[in-house]
Amino acid sequence: MMIPAYPGCRVVLAIHDDLKGVQALGRVVTYLRVAGVFLFAALFPVSAYAVDMTSSSDDLRYALSSGIDFARTALERTLTSDELSSERKIRIVISADERIDSPWTLPDKNGPFIQFNVGTARLVYALTAAVYNLSEPESGKYIGHVFTRLKQEAASTSPFVNIDPFYKWAKWTPQQISNFQSSFDKQLFIDRATLGVITFMLAHEIAHNLNGDLNHIHPPPEEARNREIKADAWAAQHLISLNMGPNIGMFSLLYYAVMDCNALRHEDRLRHPADLRRIKNLADFTLASLDKISPPENMTREQMRDRLQTVSKNLSQYIGAGDGCSLFHEKR
Ligand SMILES: [Zn+2]
Repeated sequence: MMIPAYPGCRVVLAIHDDLKGVQALGRVVTYLRVAGVFLFAALFPVSAYAVDMTSSSDDLRYALSSGIDFARTALERTLTSDELSSERKIRIVISADERIDSPWTLPDKNGPFIQFNVGTARLVYALTAAVYNLSEPESGKYIGHVFTRLKQEAASTSPFVNIDPFYKWAKWTPQQISNFQSSFDKQLFIDRATLGVITFMLAHEIAHNLNGDLNHIHPPPEEARNREIKADAWAAQHLISLNMGPNIGMFSLLYYAVMDCNALRHEDRLRHPADLRRIKNLADFTLASLDKISPPENMTREQMRDRLQTVSKNLSQYIGAGDGCSLFHEKR
């Protein structure tokens, strides 16, 4: 097992090393899921491999590594040969660290690596499931609830310990929960949306590598913000060329906003100014590129446009008006 030297990581696991066996199975499952092959539903109970925010660290780490493996393969198809040869040098590290933190990219003596924490995957699963299964304004309230609880739990080792999944928070009956957990369609949708968010995060980090941002890790704030906007644009462009959904980048920024504005223990390297400009840029870019994206089933292009505009507006509200982070910086 390869353990890159990086402060603050309790357990670091290189995904192409000791997860190989599990990963091969994960790859098969992911391909099947993403391709929408429903045969599995008849063969295996969904709960056998579906994960959510309450899953064990190992299960989430495995889901995250198989998702990233799929996302990376897809993204590589959109790269030029020069980009591809740089991208191939990047290692991806999935850490069992439960802290919620933006994925980041850094060089070490073996070259550049991008690190994802399990805590981040937990947050993405928690919010994606809520966004797609609660109606407005309940999903917004749940997101607010998670923000508040994360702030309260920031000092604990595992910040999710005392946070309920959306179905418990919304006081669903055991029957409702059981129906939700055994619905292959619903689980598939959450998995695909989560994978999209993770793909965006991965693409954003790959963009930093390809843009040469690692050569100068602590730029002045203005340049740091421009780098983020450039990396977002690159990620959005590549997701759109893969015909991935228009809401994906927007949701990713919600997670960045939670992770950064909430400033859970990483004020010292706040490299993602999660301000509303990033969301607006991404919304504008996606809206301008909408004719390149197929609408999901049962949705017209106009409905997709409306949805995107609504998401953009609502995210702005969740993240907070004004300075964009005010919601998270209020006194405890
Ligand atoms: Zn960034």
